[in-house]
This record gives sequence, structure tokens and C-alpha cells, in this order.
Amino acid sequence: MINYDIIIIGAGPAGLLAAGRAAELGGKVLILEKMRQEGRKLMITGKGRCNITNSAEIGEFITHVFPKGKFLRNAFSQFFSADIIALLEQYGLDVTLERGGRYFPTNNKAPDVLKAILKWVNELGVEIQTGYQVEKLITEDSCIIGLQANGKVFNTSKVIIATGGKSYPATGSTGDGYELARRVGHKINKVIPALVPVETEGQTAKKLQGLNLKNVRATIWVNDKKAGDAFGEMIFTHFGLSGPIILTLSRIMVTELQNGNNVGVSIDLKPALDEQKLDNRLIRDLNEHGKKRLVNIFRLWLPSSMIPVFIEELGLDPDKECHQVSSKERKQIRHLMKNFKLKVSHHRSFKEAIITAGGISTDEIRPKTMESKLIKGLYFAGEVIDLDAETGGYNLQIAYSTGWMAGNSSASIK
Ligand SMILES: Cc1cc2nc3c(=O)[nH]c(=O)nc-3n(C[C@H](O)[C@H](O)[C@H](O)COP(=O)(O)OP(=O)(O)OC[C@H]3O[C@@H](n4cnc5c(N)ncnc54)[C@H](O)[C@@H]3O)c2cc1C
Repeated sequence: MINYDIIIIGAGPAGLLAAGRAAELGGKVLILEKMRQEGRKLMITGKGRCNITNSAEIGEFITHVFPKGKFLRNAFSQFFSADIIALLEQYGLDVTLERGGRYFPTNNKAPDVLKAILKWVNELGVEIQTGYQVEKLITEDSCIIGLQANGKVFNTSKVIIATGGKSYPATGSTGDGYELARRVGHKINKVIPALVPVETEGQTAKKLQGLNLKNVRATIWVNDKKAGDAFGEMIFTHFGLSGPIILTLSRIMVTELQNGNNVGVSIDLKPALDEQKLDNRLIRDLNEHGKKRLVNIFRLWLPSSMIPVFIEELGLDPDKECHQVSSKERKQIRHLMKNFKLKVSHHRSFKEAIITAGGISTDEIRPKTMESKLIKGLYFAGEVIDLDAETGGYNLQIAYSTGWMAGNSSASIK
């Protein structure tokens, strides 16, 4: 039986960074990965392009992290965005900074991010055994003494749980870490899908399937009270809504739906124009094109797939000439442009969630080491911790920074 200084559960970005850092400090490190291949999720990030990290400063960065971004201050001060970029560049990956402070590989290939990280850990002599699912932690007097995987016992005094969350389970992230930690006494905060599309009632979304709206404002209504809003891009799907601003707002929607509340979304299709300015624009267009059919003038105002939906919803006669449109009808058109409403019926499942909210409570993890406050020699890294962020490269940075810190401290403390 080989003894390892540190055994890491999971070869995602958090586990790999932990392993590399611990090995840099001279630790004998083993990663056990239950899939046949490392970093399955990393390879599909950013629609296959991998939004590696974000250029925001620490102070701003943590405002994009929930529920307690401040927990990450120490980890970020030790290993942050510039450090992961430098590491990737050292191992042959060129990166490009895009809009919104987002870093991507210049060749847009997420697997190349994984390749660079693997090159680093391999060079440092980290051992990776794939096809090993960790089933149990072994403790004695609240200290780690080993673990069991595929029925086999491994001795070690340090274990890092880097098993990820529960989203996209086909990549290997099936929530095992929560159960491993729970069985040694850790509190698991309620785990829910986050950054997830939502389903809407009726046929409206289906009719608009594929329509991508840019520069719109979506507002969330919970029991008819405003609960949040976001400006940017969204998309209609065959079941409902998705796209960046919907994913961001899904945090509120999922919680409220799970609490049994009524959730609605209203979309302001013309956020740059207030009611008065929009009315002036409609009056001008209707006057200028008085002899044209109403359906044709709608092309000036809306994407073509929305026109039949609007006409139907408002019960307008599409063949009516513009000069026949009454002020009441114009008001209705204006109102719908500013308040295009859909009722949200469900959220999609973990299968389609970019990230998992909830997890191992940060109250029981030391922010300066990532070590458990309950079990000596047990560390946590990555999405398994109750931390999640908006889209923009923030989530991967949480994985690298907490991973690096867990590797650093587990290898430093003898
Ligand atoms: C479609 C999609 C796109 C995304 N795009 C981005 C993006 O562009 N930018 C960004 O910042 N974030 C993105 N994310 C989020 C990001 O991928 C995650 O935050 C990140 O992968 C978490 O890293 P992790 O190492 O904690 O967990 P994971 O990457 O989930 O890795 C955990 C590993 O542990 C293994 N494991 C689990 N249980 C066991 C066990 N019992 N024994 C052994 N091994 C086990 C799993 O097989 C897995 O390989 C995206 C997520 C998805 C689903």
C-alpha cells in the first residue's frame, strides 16, 4: 500500500490546481477521479470556448459571488486571475481579453485550457488515477486517516474534497462530496440549480423559439412585486427562457418557485425609450406611413418573429391601415413593448444548470486554509463549497483559487 501526503477527490479545475500547488511544495499527491478522463466539465465550459476568468479587481469580483463572496478574500489574495493567466501562458496557452473583462483562450478551445493545466500537474509528478469513485472518508478522533474508493482503502492524513456540485451530472459532478462531508459531520446548505433556464406557461416562448434579444431589460415579479431586474441579452427556447440575463435572474426565480410563489418575467423591449419617447416614436411612424398596413409597420419596431405574437396578443387587425390605429390601440402596443409578460412555471433541472448553489457551509471552513473546522486534515475546494457566482469567468476562478489554497495549506502544514 502506497501512502500519499495528500489525496484529492476529483480532477476538475479545483482538484487539479490543488494537486499542482501541493506537488510544487514537495507533497506526494494522488488525485482520484471517478470518470475515465479528467476535467470533463472544464472541456465544455463557455460553449466549448472556456471563459477562463475575469479581469475584475478582488473588491468588485466578490460582489459577483454568492452568498458570501467575502469568504474568498484570502484565497484571492494568494492566487487570483493574473496567476492563472500566467500559469496557462507558461504552459503554452495564449489568452485574449474580451468584453466584460472575460478571458478566453485565443484559439477558443476549452480542451486546451485543460491540456495546459494537465501539463503542469504531470510535470510536477502528480499521480492521477481515473475510474476511482471515492465512497467514504476514514477518520479517527476527528482526524483524516484515509479514504475508500472502489472498495479499496488508501492511507493519508490529508484529503481535499474537490468533487464539484450537482449540475451537468454527465460530467461526473453528481454531488458525492456533499454526502462524504455530511457523513463526517459537515452542514450542507440546501443545494439548488443556479444559472439555469426557466420554463414559461403557454405557447408564447415556443412561438418565439430561437429569438435572441439584445439590449433588453428583464424584470422579475414575485407575487406581483418587483424582485430584481437585469439588462442585456436573452433567448426564447421551446420551453421558455434562457440566455445571460435570464441565467443571472434564475437565482431569484429558482428560490421563489421552490418557495411556492408566483413568478413572472416582464421584458422591456425598448429600455432606451421611456413611455413618452416611445409614444412619440410610434406616433411619428404611424403618421409617416399612414397608408401602409399595420403589420408592415411593426417591422420598424420589432423582430419579425415577434410580430404575429404581438398582433395576436393585442387582438389587432393586421390589415388595418396605420392612420386607422386608435390612440387606445397605440397605447396597448406601447404597453406591450415595455411589458412583454410571461409567467414562469418551473426551472430546469440540475442537468441544465451551469452551476450549483448551496453546498458545504463556509461557516465550517477556515478561509485562510480551506481546512474543515471539524475534521483535521480535511480540505474543500471548488463548487462543492457553498459559493457560486454569475457568468463571466467567476466560477472557474473560485475553483482555481480555493484549489490552490487547499493545496498550498495542506502541503505546508505537516
Ligand atoms: C455548460 C457549462 C459551462 C460553464 N462555463 C463556464 C465558464 O465559461 N466559465 C466559468 O467560470 N465557469 C463555467 N462553468 C462552471 C464551471 O465549469 C465550474 O464552476 C467548475 O468546473 C467547478 O470546478 P470544480 O473543480 O469544483 O468541479 P468540477 O469541474 O465539477 O469537477 C469535479 C470532479 O470531481 C469528480 N468527482 C465527483 N465525485 C467524485 C468521487 N466520489 N470520486 C472521485 N471523483 C469524483 C467529477 O467526476 C469531476 O471530474 C460552466 C459550467 C457548465 C456546466
